Amino acid sequence: MNTITLKKDLTVRAAYDCIVCGGGCAGFVAAISAARAGLRVALVERYGFLGGTATAGYVVPISGFYFKEKRVVGGIAWEFVNRLEAQGAAMVELPKGHVSVHPENYKVVAEQMAEECGVELYTNTVLIDCLTDGQRVTHVILNDKSGTYALTAETFIDATGDGDLAYMAGAPMKSADSGTMQPLSLCFVIENTDATTDLLKNYIHHNGRDAKQSVNTAIREYLLSCPDAPQFGGPWFNTLLLGKSLAVNVTRAGCDATDPRAFAAAERKLRRDMFAIVDLLRAKFPEFKDCAIVSSAINAGIRETRHLIGKGTATLQSFLDGTTYPCPAAHSAHPMDIHDPKSAGQQLIRLENNAYVPCDALVCEQLDNLIVAGRCLSAEAAPYASIRVQATLMSTGEAAGLMAKLSHTSGSPVHALDEAALSAMIAERDFVL
Ligand SMILES: Cc1cc2nc3c(=O)[nH]c(=O)nc-3n(C[C@H](O)[C@H](O)[C@H](O)COP(=O)(O)OP(=O)(O)OC[C@H]3O[C@@H](n4cnc5c(N)ncnc54)[C@H](O)[C@@H]3O)c2cc1C
Repeated sequence: MNTITLKKDLTVRAAYDCIVCGGGCAGFVAAISAARAGLRVALVERYGFLGGTATAGYVVPISGFYFKEKRVVGGIAWEFVNRLEAQGAAMVELPKGHVSVHPENYKVVAEQMAEECGVELYTNTVLIDCLTDGQRVTHVILNDKSGTYALTAETFIDATGDGDLAYMAGAPMKSADSGTMQPLSLCFVIENTDATTDLLKNYIHHNGRDAKQSVNTAIREYLLSCPDAPQFGGPWFNTLLLGKSLAVNVTRAGCDATDPRAFAAAERKLRRDMFAIVDLLRAKFPEFKDCAIVSSAINAGIRETRHLIGKGTATLQSFLDGTTYPCPAAHSAHPMDIHDPKSAGQQLIRLENNAYVPCDALVCEQLDNLIVAGRCLSAEAAPYASIRVQATLMSTGEAAGLMAKLSHTSGSPVHALDEAALSAMIAERDFVL
């Protein structure tokens, strides 16, 4: 392969205490957490809005707040839900505790909460590279319409979902694997569906009342019986609360989403599958006869790609045993929810015990000032299938922000923070219940 050398002087536009890359649910909470702790924070996001998979991907239920009908995630994540509720844009669906939200309000409330505590937003800005010096990340290299430039910081939080910054910095990582990791789904919004009949009315909420599961079993059985149906999962139909449209999660493809060409091909296929599945529904069920696709997600939703190989890891054994940690980053409440990349299959394994993600799963010993938050954290496959929901990942963001603060005040590497001090900070914020 030919190589060329790119020599270019870049302006270092600003210096921060902490730079968070990726403004999904984990990243925007990480930025707020660090800023509320008193750090000067920048948040870099490639899209023009926050929320990541939730807003760009139409994944509108926030799961993981409740375990055995008791709330186990508090802090910034729960405050976020309360603020959405005040706008009529969130509904806590008890007893299961999924929170239905409206994605447009999600964007606005996340931005407001970030701006209120002084987070500087670099939206429409892509992380393209980084510089390191020994065990430290020194700069992130960003690109936007004004060109390519650098920002520097004491501590960096990688909340890009795919672990882009950790990967660029040479952190030890488990690669994405299309055969074993969880599949993509292109979610979409439909309108003009009759959701008043038994087919849909109890399935657009995920509260489990009347023994209703989240998956729509009648439609699933029908799709399984259609020889021409493309690979699918679920399906799940989600209320958007405001208005009569529904968000639909049904398409499915196994893919390594860090392989750009494979990802692009999968997205093209999923878009076609979306039309094929809606055609099948229209032909079979009167409730869908007049429905129309309003919009598909900006990207196919990515459930899983790279993971950090951390100083600590969320292990299956620790989830089965209910292992506790002095410094928990999150209480993981969702069942281990494993979607098969090769079929319509789903394994849903309920947790018997309280399960926790240790803060050590957010750091590695090879990099002194890099923390990860969100789905790229260090975890074995089965516990990851529980951790990967939004409330849990928001909690990892809050922990990451506090770890950045403690590293700032103590001068310690992020993987060697004083346990007693970090534990006290986590307890004070009250987000791991
Ligand atoms: C189809 C599907 C259904 C799901 N269902 C549920 C559910 O019902 N309930 C639930 O709670 N969870 C659900 N999940 C899981 C959950 O939505 C995700 O795991 C979670 O939102 C991931 O959050 P994150 O912040 O870690 O990553 P992401 O949401 O992926 O956010 C990463 C952010 O980083 C940005 N970014 C990435 N790379 C760069 C870069 N190089 N430069 C700048 N910015 C960058 C992205 O634009 C994005 O905003 C589902 C996921 C999928 C895909």
